[in-house]
Parts: sequence; structure tokens; C-alpha cells
Amino acid sequence: VRIVVDYDLCQGHQVCMSEAPEVFSVPADGQVQLLQESPHDGLRSKVELAVKYCPTHALKIVED
Ligand code: SF4
Repeated sequence: VRIVVDYDLCQGHQVCMSEAPEVFSVPADGQVQLLQESPHDGLRSKVELAVKYCPTHALKIVED
């Protein structure tokens, strides 16, 4: 799987970082940075929570 960010939507709420800090990093007044674009399956459930709870729906999981 791969994570895709819509940077037009991301408003830096940092929800993704709290759900999956291994994958998402969000600077104090910036937008999300992907620490890994294709996280291994062990992180899948955390990534799914990040996608689900992102308030602006800026994250998407793409099956490769
Ligand atoms: S939770 Fe969504 S809006 Fe907030 S930083 Fe992460 S991707 Fe951006």
C-alpha cells in the first residue's frame, strides 16, 4: 500500500501524527510530511486510523 496526501486539503491538524507517528510528521505550523510512503503491513491499522480521523480527509491509502 501507498499513502497519498492531498496538500490542498491538509491543514496541519497533526491528528495523523498522533495516530501513526512512525509514518506521519507534522511541524508546528506546517503540513504533513510522510516519513515513509509505503509503510509495512504492521502499520496498516494505525495508518487507517490516521486516514479515518484526519479532519480534512487529506489522506488516502492506495493499493498498489
Ligand atoms: S491529520 Fe490531516 S490535516 Fe492534519 S496534518 Fe494530518 S493529513 Fe494534514
